Amino acid sequence: IYVLGIETSCDETAASVIKNGTEIISNVVASQIESHKRFGGVVPEIASRHHVEQITLVIEEALQQVDMAPAELSAVAVTEGPGLVGALLIGVNAAKAFAFAHQLPIIGVHHIAGHIYANRLAQEMEFPLLALVISGGHTELVYMKEHGHFEVIGETRDDAAGEAYDKVARTLNLPYPGGPHIDRLAHESINPVDFPRVWLEEGTYDFSFSGLKSSVLNFMHNSAQRGEQVKPEDVAAGFQNSVVEVVTSKTLRAAEQFKVRQVIAAGGVAANKGLRASLEREFAEKGVPFFIPPLKLCTDNAAMIAAAGTVMFEKGIRGNMAMNGRPGMEMDSWI
Ligand code: ATP
Ligand code: FE
Ligand code: MG
Repeated sequence: IYVLGIETSCDETAASVIKNGTEIISNVVASQIESHKRFGGVVPEIASRHHVEQITLVIEEALQQVDMAPAELSAVAVTEGPGLVGALLIGVNAAKAFAFAHQLPIIGVHHIAGHIYANRLAQEMEFPLLALVISGGHTELVYMKEHGHFEVIGETRDDAAGEAYDKVARTLNLPYPGGPHIDRLAHESINPVDFPRVWLEEGTYDFSFSGLKSSVLNFMHNSAQRGEQVKPEDVAAGFQNSVVEVVTSKTLRAAEQFKVRQVIAAGGVAANKGLRASLEREFAEKGVPFFIPPLKLCTDNAAMIAAAGTVMFEKGIRGNMAMNGRPGMEMDSWI
């Protein structure tokens, strides 16, 4: 089974062909980061315009690399939501046009299911499974009994972790996206600032990062007022320590309570070195298999959409020409 994946939910225009849901044949990603950098975040209008310019080229490139005729494909899988509405529409319409022209079935994929299925491109998934989805727009713990079953057992009540990273980075005058810069700085600190850990009420798997973000902002503000010099690496490390401790602890507890056979991490913040090290160490100690896909597959790409789309295809799920972008799409199970 060969599936063409298309992803345009945010600021990456991506297309990929994968074989049997596990093997990447081509994986093309056109990033717009440079265009959004000076605004310190993704500007929806600019994103849409870039997607329009890039989408045909990116799809052609993905097909050229595999040297395959469209008729050899089994299906087209596209991110249906959630994401920026104008950005999603471009991918969905490109997918519909391609599917119509080549008489292929079209499959609408949930972006976060895609992030989770990025793992299947690196190793087989074992169920029951716990996925930590930690990205620019999401921070969720998802329990899966089997392929296509999703149960969100915890989620952020305010900012996503990546969002908090990007905002804290901004107050430290670091370039966008700030996550990797904070990560790098955090490793240079010898005296991290002590910021609060936000656990919320006992037993919950939900997260909250806006209070932590405010603490960092207040700390910067107060230090400036007092004329104190702040070491950015100490702020970065203090912030990262708080995120890593809370996320690691909740993920461990969920894995134990739900007695899962595998824990996987997904999303851009899963690229964080501090978080990876902490999760790897703790799960190794507990003897629970823990995986993170290679960095390239952690951030937005179309191979992960094709991977999730292939499983949906095998389950007989098909979209149709009425498909539209769904910016607020919920994560429903496929079965
Ligand atoms: P979503 O998938 O929820 O719609 P998104 O597509 O914006 O959101 P991703 O592309 O998966 O998210 O990840 C981007 C985020 O990951 C940014 O917030 C970025 O700062 C963060 N990030 C990337 N690398 C790191 C890192 N090493 N440490 C912390 N955060 C990181
Ligand atoms: Fe994403
Ligand atoms: Mg992105």
